[in-house]
Amino acid sequence: MDDCLFCKIVKKEIPSDIVYEDDNVLAFLDINPVRKGHTLVIPKNHSTCIGKMTDEEASNLVIKAKELAPKIMKAVGAKGFNFSTNCNREAGQVVFHTHFHIIPRNDSNELPHWPRSSPPKEELAEMKNTIVSFLKE
Ligand code: 5GP
Ligand code: ZN
Repeated sequence: MDDCLFCKIVKKEIPSDIVYEDDNVLAFLDINPVRKGHTLVIPKNHSTCIGKMTDEEASNLVIKAKELAPKIMKAVGAKGFNFSTNCNREAGQVVFHTHFHIIPRNDSNELPHWPRSSPPKEELAEMKNTIVSFLKE
């Protein structure tokens, strides 16, 4: 993908602060970190989001990110971490090359929590039925 920012980072056409690299995976600091040590873990092969990866690519990436996350947490003296990925613009994705965010955390109250709703149990049951029948198709 010639016009993909993270492909350019993989090819070292754009500089980044790389903390880990192997044949398939690159991990580098987010340029606008949410917290100190905020790291992005990406596959070297272009895909737009995790749902578009092969099972093998996705599992390799998850396994590597799982290995790196607690080490990055310890390296920056944090006691927890968020591990997340955004798929599609509607979910806040801005760079359309699969990436996991690893965000070291020290206090669950230091960032705003997602606003929560309290739907009636009938609504949850209906939603469960919708998803379960969709998954069976
Ligand atoms: P998204 O919202 O797509 O999940 O997150 C994209 C992330 O990439 C953001 O956290 C943003 O700060 C980071 N980012 C965007 N451009 C660059 C860049 O040129 N270099 C680095 N290291 N990170 C970037
Ligand atoms: Zn790319």
